[in-house]
Amino acid sequence: MSLDISTMSVMVSAASILQSITLIFFFFLAKQYQGIGIYSIGTVLSAIGFLIFPIRPLFINQETILLNLRFLGNLLIVSSQILYTIGIIKFLNQKINSFFFIGLASFFLITEVYFVYFKNNFIARNMIAILTVAICSILAIYYLLKFRHESLLISSNFISIQFLLNLIFLLFRAIMLPVSNTKALLESNLVNIIMFGSVFVLDYLRNSGFIMMVTQRLFHDIHRLATLDFLTNALNRRAMQPYLDHAIAQFNRGQIPFSLIMLDVDHFKLINDTYGHDRGDLVLQHLTKILKENLRCHDLISRWGGEEFLILLPQTDLQEAFLVANQLRMKIEDNPADQGLIYYTISLGVGTFNQQYNGVLDSLLIGIDQALYQAKQNGRNQVVKASNC
Ligand code: GH3
Ligand code: MG
Ligand code: MG
Repeated sequence: MSLDISTMSVMVSAASILQSITLIFFFFLAKQYQGIGIYSIGTVLSAIGFLIFPIRPLFINQETILLNLRFLGNLLIVSSQILYTIGIIKFLNQKINSFFFIGLASFFLITEVYFVYFKNNFIARNMIAILTVAICSILAIYYLLKFRHESLLISSNFISIQFLLNLIFLLFRAIMLPVSNTKALLESNLVNIIMFGSVFVLDYLRNSGFIMMVTQRLFHDIHRLATLDFLTNALNRRAMQPYLDHAIAQFNRGQIPFSLIMLDVDHFKLINDTYGHDRGDLVLQHLTKILKENLRCHDLISRWGGEEFLILLPQTDLQEAFLVANQLRMKIEDNPADQGLIYYTISLGVGTFNQQYNGVLDSLLIGIDQALYQAKQNGRNQVVKASNC
C-alpha cells in the first residue's frame, strides 16, 4: 500500500479546519475562559500550513524571497503548536512567560530563515521544527499536570497522553529522518507517512481533549453555581437536601444517628446598620470560614436563610453535637471578623434524629428552630438542645 503524502497533508488540513469550526463555536460558548481563542487560531494556522505543502509545487516558479511557501508552511505549523501550548496555559489561568515564547519563536524563525534561504537543508529544518514542537509539548504536559483543577482530571490526562505520544513520534522522526535518507516532506516514504498519519490522529484527539476540558469546566462551574451559595461558598438549601435524605436513609437502615445544628447571627441587623451591608457580608464569610475550620471534613454546612445556617453532623449523637455547637459558639465569640474589628456572636439550636420522627425530617427541623428561638430568648450567644430529641 502506498499513501500519497500530498493527499494526506490535505486531509490533515481539512481535519484541522473542521475542528477549528467546533473550537470557534466553543470560544463563543465559553467566552469567560481564557485561551480558547488562541488555541482555535492554532488550528486555523495548522489548516493553512498543511494546505500549503501540497499546493506548493503548483506555485514553485512564482516563489520569491518574500513569499517562500516552504518557509511559510513550516512557520504556520510550528506557530500553531506554540499557540496550542499558550492556549492551554491561559485556559489553566496561568501567566504566560512572554520572553520565553518570544525567544522560542525567534530561535525557530532565525534558524528556519538560515536553513531555507542561506543553506537549504531539509534535515536541519526538520530537526529545528521537531525541537521547537517538542519543547511546546513538554511545557503543555507540565502545565496540564501541575496546574489543572481537580474537575479537569480526566480531560487534562487525556490531552497529556496525546502530547506524550506526539513526543514519541517526534523522537522517532528525529532518529529516522537521517537514517532513511529522506530528502523532502512530500516524499512518499514510511517516515513521512507515519508523521502525517500521527499528526492526523493526534491533532484530532488533542483537540477533542481540549473541547472535553472546556465542557468539563463549564459543567463544574454550572454545578458550583447551582449548589453553592454565592457569598459564603457554603452549600445552598437545595444542595443540602440530598445529604439530609441520605442521612435519614442511613438512619433507617442501620440506626446510625445524625445531628443537626441551626445557627443564627445575633443582632445581625445591628451589625449591618453599624458597619454597613458590605461589612455585614464579610461577617457572613468570616462565620462560614470559622465553621469550616472547626468542623470535620464530612460535616456539611448550608446557608439556610439570610444569616441562618444549618449544619449536618453525620454519625453524631446529641451529646457530641451539643459539644461541637458550643465549641463553634466559643470560636466565633473569640474571633472577631474584619481583621479583629467586628465582634459578633451566634445562637444555636441542636437536635438529633430519632425513631419518633418516623423517617420525616420536618419535626427535627421544627425542634431545632424552636431551640434556636429559645437560645435567643435566653439572651443569645448560647446553645439550646431541641426538646423533642
Ligand atoms: P437576632 O439576634 O434576633 O437574630 O436579630 P437579627 O438582627 O440578627 O435578626 P433580624 O432577622 O432582625 O435581621 C436579620 C438581618 O440579616 C436582616 C437582613 O437585612 C440581614 N441579611 C440577610 N441576608 C444578608 C446578607 O446576605 N448580607 C447582609 N449584609 N445582611 C443580610
Ligand atoms: Mg440573627
Ligand atoms: Mg435570622
